[in-house]
Amino acid sequence: MKVWLALDGVGHPLDAPPDSPWDQELSTLRPLVDAGAALDATLGIPGLPQSGTGQSCWLTGQDAVRVMGEHFGPHPGPTLQRLLRAEALPVRLVAAGARTALTNHYAPAFFEPQRRPRVGCFPFAFQAAGLPLNPPGLPLVPASLGLNFQAPWTQGTLDLGEVERLGTQLAQAARGWDLLVLDLWFSDLLGHAGRKPVPPELREAARAYLQRVDRLLQGLLSGGADVALSSDHGNMEELSAKSHTVARVPLAGSGGVTGPANVVEGGRWLATWAGLPAPLP
Ligand SMILES: [Zn+2]
Repeated sequence: MKVWLALDGVGHPLDAPPDSPWDQELSTLRPLVDAGAALDATLGIPGLPQSGTGQSCWLTGQDAVRVMGEHFGPHPGPTLQRLLRAEALPVRLVAAGARTALTNHYAPAFFEPQRRPRVGCFPFAFQAAGLPLNPPGLPLVPASLGLNFQAPWTQGTLDLGEVERLGTQLAQAARGWDLLVLDLWFSDLLGHAGRKPVPPELREAARAYLQRVDRLLQGLLSGGADVALSSDHGNMEELSAKSHTVARVPLAGSGGVTGPANVVEGGRWLATWAGLPAPLP
């Protein structure tokens, strides 16, 4: 009954500026992150880390940046798609006979052929494993965690109590599964709305998003789930710029995390945590 919360574009609080969205009371999220690790996402390659390569590192435990020769994204192209088809965590779990699902809710517009956006690493990897999006019989979670998709962001559809209940339901559902995964990309969307001076409503939205992650986590943990939380690169922790950042990223888990120093090692840690045999050195 494991649940992986894969945040998108949230740098570690240790590398966040003063007054970042981390600078608030987050009674469950913050202790978990503080007991975890702060991982390098640059992998020694110049430029800003991107979602395509970053998420491929998490999903495969391979150095996808070196495979590409650069930070690449947001969506995986043919090279990263090949890597994900062969090595992505859901592909390996299915091959090992494990049950896994991506519990994001995708709106009907996502499936319209003409309007279909290019698919990110998480939906690509689960589909490569032969698994459906919007899996039936599971509580599905919108990546916005109920916030509005544009300003006014905080006039959303779910209140904090409903987000926490969703976490509890997900934890209960997880009992029949080896690993449930949530691709929480909305933080990256908020980060890309950053500018100087920081719009007050954006600062409020970013704070509200982390509050929602906090409450989702409370629901998951009170429901008995074993949770891991990661991020692919920095962005939302620095709202005065719209670009990604070189901030280190969190890897946190219910039992604390020590060991991994970068997102490739983080991906290997995650695979072992999810029940796969440790990779050969
Ligand atoms: Zn990203």
